[in-house]
Amino acid sequence: MTERLSLRARSLDDADALAPWRERFIVPDGVIYLDGNSLGCLPRATPQRMEQVIRGEWGAGLIRSWNSADWVDLPARLGAKIAPLIGAQPQEVIACDSTSVNLFKLIAAALDMQRDRGNGARKVVLSEPGNFPTDLYMIEGLERQRLARRRLASRDSLLSALDDDVALLLLTHAHYKTGELFDMGELTRAAHEAGALVLWDLSHSGGALPVHLNHCVADGEGADFAVGCGYKYFNGGPGAPAYAFVAERHLAALRQPLTGWFGHAEPFAFSDDYTAARGIEQLQCGTPPVLGLAALEVGVDLIAEMGVARLYGKSQALSEFFCQCLGECGVALELVSPSDPHRRGSQLSYRHEHAYAICQALIARGVIGDFRDPDILRFGFAPAYLRFADIARAVGHLAEVMRTGEWQRSEFHRRAAVT
Ligand SMILES: *Cc1c(COP(=O)(O)O)cnc(C)c1O
Repeated sequence: MTERLSLRARSLDDADALAPWRERFIVPDGVIYLDGNSLGCLPRATPQRMEQVIRGEWGAGLIRSWNSADWVDLPARLGAKIAPLIGAQPQEVIACDSTSVNLFKLIAAALDMQRDRGNGARKVVLSEPGNFPTDLYMIEGLERQRLARRRLASRDSLLSALDDDVALLLLTHAHYKTGELFDMGELTRAAHEAGALVLWDLSHSGGALPVHLNHCVADGEGADFAVGCGYKYFNGGPGAPAYAFVAERHLAALRQPLTGWFGHAEPFAFSDDYTAARGIEQLQCGTPPVLGLAALEVGVDLIAEMGVARLYGKSQALSEFFCQCLGECGVALELVSPSDPHRRGSQLSYRHEHAYAICQALIARGVIGDFRDPDILRFGFAPAYLRFADIARAVGHLAEVMRTGEWQRSEFHRRAAVT
C-alpha cells in the first residue's frame, strides 16, 4: 500500500462524522470486515441488552413480561422504528418471521387481492433470473400450490413482460451479487400502469441506503408490499427476525395465508374461528421470537441514530476510495457492479475465475469479504463501523494476494459448507 493512500485514508477518517460510531460495535482485532451485507457486526450494547432480557424479563419476570415488558407489542413497535428508515409509516411495518416466510405471505396476499378485485385470471408473479434464490423458490412453492405462475424476465425486458397476466412484480431493490439498484419509482409506476402490484425485497438496501416506499412515484401510488432482512445492515444477529411492509391503503383488504393465532384480532380470546387483526399485526403467525427481536432492536436503534442518508453517503465514499486504491495498487479486476455509485448499493463485486480461492486467501489475512457462486468476489461496505484506513489496508492485502499468487495454495481451494 502506498504511503499516499494511507495518508489520504487518514484525512478521510478525520473528516468522517460517523467515525465515532465504530466504537459502538465490536469489530474483532485484526479483522477488516467487508461482509456486513451478509451478517452485520455485533453492537456493543447487544450482549448487555440480551442479559437484561434473558435474566430480567425472562428469568425473573417470566410470563408476566408479555405485559410488563411489553413483549406482545414488540413486533409492531420495532416495525414502527424500521418504518421511517424505508420511507413507510409506523403502522405499515412489522418485524416478524424470516424474509422467506414474509415473501410467502405477501406473494399469496397479493394474488388473493387480485382475485378480490376480479382479476383472478392474473396469476403470474414476475421476477428476474438471478434474483436472490429464496425469492424465486418461494414463487415456485406457490406455483406448486397452483396459486401462482412464475415468469422470469431479464432486467431490460421486464417492462415488456408486464402484461395482463401479471398479478405481482417481485424484485430485489439492490441486487445481492452485483449491488445494482432498480429504479424503484420507474418499476413501481410501470407495474401499476399494467394493473400489477409490486413487492420489493429490501434485504440489501434497508439500513444501507435511503428507501422511499411510499413516495417512490412522484405523482402516483408508492410500493404495495416490501420485505427485508434483519441480520444484514440492521445488525440484528444471525437469523434475526425480518420485517414486512404493507401500504396502508391495502391493510383493510389484506389476507395472508399463514393464519396463526398471533395474527388473530384477539389472540387471547381463544376462539375456534380465525378473524384477522385489522392492521399490520395480521402478518404475524406464531409467538414472536422475543430474544431475536430484542437483539434486532439494538441494531435498528443504532442505524436510526446514524441516519440512512449519512450512512449511504459514507458507503459511497468508501466504495469509491476502494476503487481508487485498486487503481493505484495496479490491481486489475473485472467490476460487475455499476461503476456509478448512485446506481449501486453498499457493495462492489468483481468477477474472477478464482474468486473462491482469492476470497479464502484474503480471509486468512483477516480481510473478510465473500464469494458468490460461481465467480464473484464481493466486498460490502457497512459504513457504520468501517474506516477508510480499513479500505486502504484491505486493498493492500488484495494487491499482495494477487501479485504473489498466494491464492494458488491448495488450502484456499477447499470448499466449506457455507461460502
Ligand atoms: C439475505 C436475503 C434474504 C434472506 O432470506 P432469509 O429468509 O432471511 O434467509 C432474502 N432475500 C434477499 C434478496 C436477501 O439478500
